[in-house]
Amino acid sequence: MLVRPHEKIHYSAGASIGAAKALQVIRRANIAGAGIGGLTAALALARQGVEVCVFEQAPALGEVGAGLQLSPNAMKVLTNLGLQEAVNEVAFAPQYARIRDGKSGRDLAVLPLKDQCEKVYGAPYLHVHRADLHKILEEAAGQQGVRVKTGSTVTGYTDVGLLANGVEQVADLNIGADGIRSAITAQMHPQFGPRFTGQLAWRGTVPTADLPDGLIPPDATVWVGRGSHVVTYYLRGGKLVNFVAVEERDDWQNPDWRVQGDPADLLARFSGWHGDIHTLLGAARSTHLWALFDRPELPDWSDGSTGLLGDACHPTLPFMAQGAAMAIEDACVLTRCLTQGSPSAAGALQHYTRIRKPRTARLQSRARNNAALFHLDGPFHGVVARAKLKVAGSLPDRLGLRPFDSIYGYDATTVAL
Ligand SMILES: Cc1cc2nc3c(=O)[nH]c(=O)nc-3n(C[C@H](O)[C@H](O)[C@H](O)COP(=O)(O)OP(=O)(O)OC[C@H]3O[C@@H](n4cnc5c(N)ncnc54)[C@H](O)[C@@H]3O)c2cc1C
Repeated sequence: MLVRPHEKIHYSAGASIGAAKALQVIRRANIAGAGIGGLTAALALARQGVEVCVFEQAPALGEVGAGLQLSPNAMKVLTNLGLQEAVNEVAFAPQYARIRDGKSGRDLAVLPLKDQCEKVYGAPYLHVHRADLHKILEEAAGQQGVRVKTGSTVTGYTDVGLLANGVEQVADLNIGADGIRSAITAQMHPQFGPRFTGQLAWRGTVPTADLPDGLIPPDATVWVGRGSHVVTYYLRGGKLVNFVAVEERDDWQNPDWRVQGDPADLLARFSGWHGDIHTLLGAARSTHLWALFDRPELPDWSDGSTGLLGDACHPTLPFMAQGAAMAIEDACVLTRCLTQGSPSAAGALQHYTRIRKPRTARLQSRARNNAALFHLDGPFHGVVARAKLKVAGSLPDRLGLRPFDSIYGYDATTVAL
């Protein structure tokens, strides 16, 4: 096992003397899962001098062909990790968050993102291709000496390490960042399995050149309708349009998010929708189906020196675009707890859980509530939901964004520990 000499450890600005003590205890960390959460944690820990090994079940690293919205709270962490420039190069900055009626195409609410986010929250709101962000994280982690072992399935943990392909891998700290079907969570909390939410997402991208000019607004647009909604936004500086079309449906519960769907079926399912949505979905050459699962709030996120992070402990429905952002924040706060807080892995994990759990539970609940809003559920066939959206959208710029202050204004790099 390679242990870096103490002299090579680089401490972040402002790290206390306690940090040196903590890092002497955490020399080696194992992470299950090389998703966005696992790689962010790997990078953050490696930057503090920890020797990190990531075990990924997939035979090769990569991500699905879909987009990701990175709100200011996520961007603050990525910037702190030195990735802002790399992300900017592949991103698209939306002008507004827009909510539209899926049938008439009328705007119900419009909120400024580009003008306000930097000014109010100190970081931009960006859209990226998942594969681009994944690559950026993978490269940055590699440069910090992180080892990623693909084709390594983690089946559980022991008192001292992770079990990868049946072999115990010993480390001072073990992290389960292995997503909604986490093997680590299953061992830690066997009674709290993932549950299907009755929603299915169709995801895909369409080259902008294949669409009529100006068809899709340069915004994060949610087209709302009875029992379904569609999200559209640009990626890669505007070269691609990303779509997520969600419908309430219980006949598709396949947990694999890489399953191809039939674009003709997708189009038929949204046949009564606005012509712009028809044109967009009609231009999709491929689409992936993703059944949306949830998990009840877990009582705790750690067991000794093994802890959980991201979807493994708080899967968040995509209706606030915050699941990956929460995993990114987790990685930052966990690393800070290890370097600036408790001198033991177990203590730091408990401290991290206390800080993170209330926030992620609130986000999970807000995302669940948005399903009802976007699907125009509730009294009088959605009249109330429409009215709520309209009121939100009629507020002046800064006031309209206020409900998002606690989300976008959060700074995991400085939040009190
Ligand atoms: C349709 C949709 C749109 C979304 N849009 C957004 C958005 O705009 N913004 C946002 O912030 N979030 C969004 N999310 C949420 C976001 O995708 C997730 O919250 C995020 O990917 C979670 O990251 P993670 O690293 O925790 O888990 P994952 O991304 O699931 O990564 C887990 C990794 O662990 C690996 N793994 C699993 N089991 C094992 C094992 N036993 N052994 C080894 N490796 C294993 C997997 O192969 C994978 O690489 C969206 C989600 C959906 C469904």
